Amino acid sequence: MKRRIFTSILFAPVVMAVCAAGLLAQNNQGGQGNQGGKQMDDQGEGQISVHSRTPVEGFAPAAGGTGALSPISNHGGPVLGSPNVYLIWYGNWNQSNGSDTPAGQSLVRSFLAGLSNSPYYQINTTYPGVSGFDNLNSKEYTDKGSQGTSLNDRSIKTIVTNALKSGALGSPDPNGLYFVLTSSNIAKSGFCSQYCGWHTYMSYSGTTIQYSFVGNANRCLNACAAQTVGPNGNAGVDGMLSVVAHELEETNTDPRLNAWYDSSGAENADKCAWTFGQNLKVAANGAYYNMTLNGLNFLIQRNLAATDNKCYVNWATKAQ
Ligand SMILES: [Zn+2]
Repeated sequence: MKRRIFTSILFAPVVMAVCAAGLLAQNNQGGQGNQGGKQMDDQGEGQISVHSRTPVEGFAPAAGGTGALSPISNHGGPVLGSPNVYLIWYGNWNQSNGSDTPAGQSLVRSFLAGLSNSPYYQINTTYPGVSGFDNLNSKEYTDKGSQGTSLNDRSIKTIVTNALKSGALGSPDPNGLYFVLTSSNIAKSGFCSQYCGWHTYMSYSGTTIQYSFVGNANRCLNACAAQTVGPNGNAGVDGMLSVVAHELEETNTDPRLNAWYDSSGAENADKCAWTFGQNLKVAANGAYYNMTLNGLNFLIQRNLAATDNKCYVNWATKAQ
């Protein structure tokens, strides 16, 4: 979806949060539709695929409908069968705010390790050539702030480039998705105000790699988290993980932005964005969750099955 069209759609549900929630309660559509899509980056240098803000702030996480949505199709581009995930920590992840912490970083690692071949991630196997596995690389890179505390899209590319140049992540990996995860003191153009994350790709030293920006939702829980208490007691990182899952599964099926998306440019996870299924549970601290991976509870947005264009939480039980 081009930016001109996309911008108007982006702001409407945010401004009219009450209307959006009302619509959700009334209809039984699959996802909420058009909760993200493709646009030019803010430097006009390339395309990114963004994940919108939550349209239902102040409400319980939306279940979403169970019906079939408009079809998603393969436009001929490649998919990533089994992405290798690399973490690039940007900013200060050693704060005393209870969110940008080493424990928060561990939560990200535990989630990505537990995600691989989980009943949730197996939804991706409905896309030919996609395995349902992800491989969390143990090599990580930390950038404590080389590009300052106010970033734009080009800064994210620079951060990835510098991480690759350092050699700390090994040689550039064509099956790699390099996540730039910013701490909540870092401002990023568009983050919180328009979207919560995006993914795209770049060429580095003759190799095309995928990369993604996701900020700690603690910066704007009302915009980039579905709830203000997280199931693991870290609302910012708990909220961030739902966006991480979203970007990862989109990178599986549309790594170069030319494979799986619908007629309006929405990728698989976009079509189910900000919907969490019919079987929400409540943790002891009052937070909602919809899956347990390696003993930890998470609230993760649903994903679209290519076989029937419906949103699912669990591909083993077919729970929607
Ligand atoms: Zn998206």
